Amino acid sequence: MALDVRQFPCLSDNYGFIVRDEASGRTACVDTPDAEAILAALSAAGWGLDLVLNTHWHPDHAGGNRAVQAATGARIVGPEEVLRIAPLDQAVKGGDEIRLGDTRIQVIDCSGHTLGHVAYHAPEANMAFVGDTLFAMGCGRLFEGEPAQMWASLQRLAALPEQTIIFCAHEYTESNVRFALSLDSDPAVAERAQIVFEARRKGEPTVPTTIARERATNPFLRAPLLMPDAPDPVTAFAQVRSAKDEFKG
Ligand code: ZN
Ligand code: FE
Repeated sequence: MALDVRQFPCLSDNYGFIVRDEASGRTACVDTPDAEAILAALSAAGWGLDLVLNTHWHPDHAGGNRAVQAATGARIVGPEEVLRIAPLDQAVKGGDEIRLGDTRIQVIDCSGHTLGHVAYHAPEANMAFVGDTLFAMGCGRLFEGEPAQMWASLQRLAALPEQTIIFCAHEYTESNVRFALSLDSDPAVAERAQIVFEARRKGEPTVPTTIARERATNPFLRAPLLMPDAPDPVTAFAQVRSAKDEFKG
């Protein structure tokens, strides 16, 4: 059940992903930040496109649906909220399962950044595409949801197997690292900071990450430890989220 993933930067700081189920040759793209970049990546790979998987309705995730579908005939799967701005053929929600050829893909409710946000987890391939929910050392802003909802979504991702490869939709890691260093003195954070700064100096991506790495160094997952005076984990998370919203690093 292997998946071949090609990742490419697009727009100002998004990542696009095209994915191929090796057994069947079926292909998908995760979100449609930039139709032209996706079509160029497909043609470089020599792949067609069967499926679009949207994580949420924001224009840098679903804005290219129409053009990608017109060019490839791909079927579009995503949360119902995508219909606010773009075409959608099949609405999915947390708990649903879809297939890309022989690969099972489980839909995980990741509401918080938007109310309908979902992630796509391919358990046998050991990969998850998490949109704007979990970032390398960061998490998405709460545009529509409440802290309790986002905390629950992050906990569902954190509960995936430690070696799960996490594909985040943006390269935000450098600023996330500066924020993490401002409130976490754990040596694992300092060590990862060096790796991130070095990678960015060389223009290399810091995505994908893994659940193990995020559990060890992501200040949002570590919120209860970082905010020991908070009465409960949701409050701790909300405190870290507002600190990040105000952080000028
Ligand atoms: Zn977004
Ligand atoms: Fe985004």
